[in-house]
Amino acid sequence: MRLALTLALLALVPITAGAAPGKVIPQVCWIEYSATDLPGAMGGQGITEMKVWHSTFSGVLVRHPKGDILIDTGLSPDALAEVNELPKNERTFGQGIVKSAESRIYPPQALAKAGEGGADLKAILITHAHYDHMGGALTLTAPVLVSAAEKQWIKAQTKSPTIVPPSMADRLSSRLQGIQYDSGAYMGFAQSKDYYGDHSVVVVPLPGHTPGSQGVFLNLPGKRVFLIGDTTDTLEAAYRGLPKSDVVRSATDFVPELADRQAAAIARFHRAHPDIAIIPAHDRTAYAVAFGQPFACTAAAPRR
Ligand SMILES: [Zn+2]
Repeated sequence: MRLALTLALLALVPITAGAAPGKVIPQVCWIEYSATDLPGAMGGQGITEMKVWHSTFSGVLVRHPKGDILIDTGLSPDALAEVNELPKNERTFGQGIVKSAESRIYPPQALAKAGEGGADLKAILITHAHYDHMGGALTLTAPVLVSAAEKQWIKAQTKSPTIVPPSMADRLSSRLQGIQYDSGAYMGFAQSKDYYGDHSVVVVPLPGHTPGSQGVFLNLPGKRVFLIGDTTDTLEAAYRGLPKSDVVRSATDFVPELADRQAAAIARFHRAHPDIAIIPAHDRTAYAVAFGQPFACTAAAPRR
């Protein structure tokens, strides 16, 4: 299916920008920390339709009666110092990433734009432990939930880092909690974690980009979203099952062949479930399709 047509089909339910917190729950909000435009070809191997990659550093806030969570947190205020702790290839790539997000805000400010206080969070859920997803957690105090495999990997990285800055891992170590996928099979995935126990937020393993990368389904009436972290960088790559561009793949994919297979699996998933809005973590267009504009929140129920 062509990208434009798919995007049109995914323009789903109305959005309530700046909806009053607590009035309608659960609710999900697009939280954006930074945005930048990159060449389309950087967004995956063999990209043809996307001329410009509208890249973003974003997260998603879930407001829920059982406690609010923030999924992914962007870069830390010390991001440049952190990437300078990494080996040469990852350091050079990381310096470029941090520079591309020079004009950025951090979770406390970003959450405030959606009417949320950082202290209101019950937890922070991280798709994977890269500095551009986990670093912003340093500006908050809530527990940081990663997959059990990712937690182990973070610990190992403190001794021999490749892409997790040791200082970041150290500073977060006491707050890290490993998620057990104990909720059974879900949507074709052999394992899952139904976070609230009501199917509104379901976490599934997506190893490859990192050992414990995970995806998150957000299920709201009239809207279903699948956050795929960095399994692909862009929607076109997700729909076509494309591996990452060489420069991104070599600097960021932990097991590139497994990451490639996961990208292909996402494309198969999309063909089987075209009604579910897939959001690669760095594709601004994908968030815009699902949420409209940054800091907008979806209503849980159809609006009157
Ligand atoms: Zn990333």
